[in-house]
Amino acid sequence: MIGRWREPGVAAGGEQRSARERERMVAEHLVKRGIADPLVLEAMRRTPRHLFVDEALRDKAYEDYPLPIGEGQTISQPFMVARMTELLQLTGKDKVLEIGTGCGYQAAVLARLAARVCTVERIPKLAARARETLEAIGASNVWVRTANGTFGWPDEAPFDRIVVTAGGPSVPPPLFAQLAEGGRMVMPVGSEDSQRLQVVDKIAGEARVAEDSGCVFVKLIGKYAWEA
Ligand code: SAH
Repeated sequence: MIGRWREPGVAAGGEQRSARERERMVAEHLVKRGIADPLVLEAMRRTPRHLFVDEALRDKAYEDYPLPIGEGQTISQPFMVARMTELLQLTGKDKVLEIGTGCGYQAAVLARLAARVCTVERIPKLAARARETLEAIGASNVWVRTANGTFGWPDEAPFDRIVVTAGGPSVPPPLFAQLAEGGRMVMPVGSEDSQRLQVVDKIAGEARVAEDSGCVFVKLIGKYAWEA
């Protein structure tokens, strides 16, 4: 399941260096902080985070913090990407919806572990750039749409898994409605400046909610969320 798409064609040397940096990122920032799923660790090892940020920031791409991606938005810190991915318990057969594509990094990680990823971004410039990067690295099972993601992606529903990578006050009802029976959703829920990951399982049509790590995400904007 890992490596369902081709590796990026990066010049030798640079590629070796970034592979070493990813190895260090996995050991220092993920394994030491409790990420244990070997498939998630392998997906993080293989996804070139440096290609999702501006050239000027590439030296910082494997440190464990968010980085600016333009338009006032950020690429999430590696630990959060790994934790959310681990919580989703992907099976390789899943159809996944992500809200908040940003630069596309989380989508690329999900794409290694799921059958198909549909991802929605409200800012057209970011969606366009994410599409280009995902294509450049060969992530051919990701579909990027420019829209307000609090309404989900009704034409593609239901989804086995849903992940929201921006923080909101509560789970938008259209997203829970588009979650398949037996499916799982992960979203940062809380105030505008601090949230906690909520893990929502849909069981007999009802939500069973558990809480995970504290976190700080950019705002989810739109109906059922915050104002711009
Ligand atoms: N998933 C990204 C993180 C992106 S930051 C990663 O891999 O690093 C969150 C993104 O959510 C921002 O790009 C922001 O523009 C977007 N966003 C906020 N509200 C949204 C909404 N209602 N619909 C779609 N995207 C939204």
